[in-house]
Amino acid sequence: MTKILGKKELESWLGSIMKERTLVAPKHVNHLTLFSPVQSVDEIAFDYENTNLSPKELFFPRTDTLFTVERKDSDVEVTPAIIEQETIIFGIRPCDAWGIATLDGPYLDDPADSLWAQHRDKTTMIGLACTKPAPQCFCTSMGSAPNDSSKVDIMLTEVDDSYAVETVTEKGERLLRGVELKESDVKPSVPSCGTDVPAEGIVEAAQKVFDEPYWSRLADRCIHCNVCAYVCPTCYCFDIRDRRDRGKIERIRTWESCQSKGFTRIAGGYDPRADKGTRLRQRFCHKLLYFPQQFGPLGCVGCGRCVAACPVNIDIREIISDLQGLGAKVGQGSN
Ligand code: SF4
Ligand code: SF4
Repeated sequence: MTKILGKKELESWLGSIMKERTLVAPKHVNHLTLFSPVQSVDEIAFDYENTNLSPKELFFPRTDTLFTVERKDSDVEVTPAIIEQETIIFGIRPCDAWGIATLDGPYLDDPADSLWAQHRDKTTMIGLACTKPAPQCFCTSMGSAPNDSSKVDIMLTEVDDSYAVETVTEKGERLLRGVELKESDVKPSVPSCGTDVPAEGIVEAAQKVFDEPYWSRLADRCIHCNVCAYVCPTCYCFDIRDRRDRGKIERIRTWESCQSKGFTRIAGGYDPRADKGTRLRQRFCHKLLYFPQQFGPLGCVGCGRCVAACPVNIDIREIISDLQGLGAKVGQGSN
């Protein structure tokens, strides 16, 4: 039997959550759909393929104060940032929940990033299965699925005028306490994710193609806008700045991209990735080669955002296919 919640009951549950805690949900804002705090159920967008920006900024804000340093008489006081607020995210798609779980690799690896760990602890994720994946989506090729519940706390799947409810974690169970779920014999259908991308064996293929001129030819098109990194749920490059404000210093972390000119420039001016080709290779090899070597999963979850957003049509799906083809040729040539 399937546990279900009617649409009206779902709205009333979300309404009661937002009275006590911060509820963040997809919201239509100026022709975009973005995760935003909501104060009323009417603000929530239920009719979206996916949000334009991923929910990573709820865990890794684009600008974040890590700690402050203040002089107090003859002492120096360091105050680390503390996350006090509990947040419930409604409507996270399975690929984005995979993105958050993927970033646990670098951010919870010893020593864990304190802010990431606090956000993870204080956030409960209510997933919403995709009913109509967008044409650029390819989550199934990257190990997930439009109804994958493995990385959320609760998974909802729309069926007729109700939602099938799967309680996945203890956090999810706590959030659902007191909510009356009915039993039904309806079976939610599983949509297929449109694009098939040959990701199997990509680590070996990327290794073989590492020194090929492919990267610099592809990078000729890149205009360094960094949009691909900012929309991506698994890109986590950042820059660190100190800001002084009337005797108080804040250490601030801001989003960056490994494709930015000067991202790897070191003292003395040397830059090991001074040309566009090596920077573009870094972005894709980090996702398809180094990340899986270091942490296990691929560093791309197939959300398709960079495919839709890149102004010069640099498409990771094509890159994966190209690497497989070129890797096979390079392999033959070396035999
Ligand atoms: S690389 Fe592109 S498709 Fe992959 S997770 Fe990032 S934005 Fe999505
Ligand atoms: S979105 Fe496209 S043009 Fe912009 S930095 Fe990324 S690959 Fe380059």
